[in-house]
Amino acid sequence: MDSASPLFDTYARAPLRFERGEGVWLTADNGERYLDFGAGIAVNALGHAHPHLVAALKEQSEKVWHLSNLYEIPGQERLGRRLAAASFADKVFFSNSGAEAMEAAIKTARRYHYVNGRPERVDIITFQGAFHGRTLGTIAAGNQPKHLEGFGPKADGFKQVPLGDRAALAEAIDEKTAALLIEPIQGEGGIRVVSNEELQHLRAVCDEHGILLVLDEVQTGVGRTGKLFAHEWSGITPDILGVAKGIGGGFPLGACLATAEAAAGMTAGTHGTTFGGNPLAMAVGNAVLDLVLADGFMEHVRDMALVFRQGLAAIGDTHPDVVAEIRGEGLMLGLKCACKNGDLVDAMRAENLLAIPAGDNVVRLLPPLVVSAEEARDGLARIERAAGRLSAKPAAQPA
Ligand SMILES: *Cc1c(COP(=O)(O)O)cnc(C)c1O
Repeated sequence: MDSASPLFDTYARAPLRFERGEGVWLTADNGERYLDFGAGIAVNALGHAHPHLVAALKEQSEKVWHLSNLYEIPGQERLGRRLAAASFADKVFFSNSGAEAMEAAIKTARRYHYVNGRPERVDIITFQGAFHGRTLGTIAAGNQPKHLEGFGPKADGFKQVPLGDRAALAEAIDEKTAALLIEPIQGEGGIRVVSNEELQHLRAVCDEHGILLVLDEVQTGVGRTGKLFAHEWSGITPDILGVAKGIGGGFPLGACLATAEAAAGMTAGTHGTTFGGNPLAMAVGNAVLDLVLADGFMEHVRDMALVFRQGLAAIGDTHPDVVAEIRGEGLMLGLKCACKNGDLVDAMRAENLLAIPAGDNVVRLLPPLVVSAEEARDGLARIERAAGRLSAKPAAQPA
């Protein structure tokens, strides 16, 4: 660690400096190439330097970069209309990040009850292991002691119950409850998949109590699981949804989607952002949708998911002392480790493959969705070698 670093010491960074990227590959300043199966934490959904995204950004950068939301921004209307057409939503609010998308989602849920004559309904119920961002509101939602410690009073109006504990949930709901907030697959929490049946149950609970279902699809959205949004696998729809990460393909962009009814309280002046939805972000966001909504894109994601699942299962069978379990959906995959997850991430990096640690001793694989079968197999071979580095050595044969 360089104690003279001008940067906040909030990150323990790997000693790697990348100069350029192309598709699923990154090139470091020493010329070494790495297979990027972290994709900037599920952000580079279309890989690095995708020509269609580069062209969109270049073209917009020569017109106008920023205007503020004091004026109409045609790119916002277009992206909003396309997101609504492809989802449950009627209305969209654009932000710059996931935490801001979730803040907008939480505010939208509370305002819904406020304008419907139930101002006491402010509590948001979340689930253990959740991650919703690092603002003061979203750390209260996530309720992780390590994110809250030392940051003053925890924001009021959040309750948490164990994931999948229906009795605890029933107990927690009262006249102050505004909404349930959940990730269809907990990402930071360790690729913990919420079953379709559980999501259907949560939808029914919300309907029964007149409260809103808010989904955090910041990590699961935009094709990551082989559908535009992960909840589509369950057949239910939320009232409000936050998305970010992949939606900008690497350009900072987030969005809060809602039904017209759920968004009814978000009237002029109630919420805002200076940068959110700026023309550069909208140009890239629209270009991302061009690719993600194209025929065959989701099929490709599902096909590659199968390649990964089979390869990872084989690695788990060969090295059960390293990989205990394979988790996830689509290209949001987790290796629950029998060793320390950080050791496996390091061993993968030694094989020039980038992966990301998560909670619950898991290593996350979040490759760009454009990964080819050949690149997937290349990556799997590296993961196999990485696991081999950590696997207990077979007992030495007597001479
Ligand atoms: C990354 C993430 C966030 C926060 O997004 P930022 O862009 O870092 O603010 C929120 N929710 C989930 C599920 C995430 O994965």
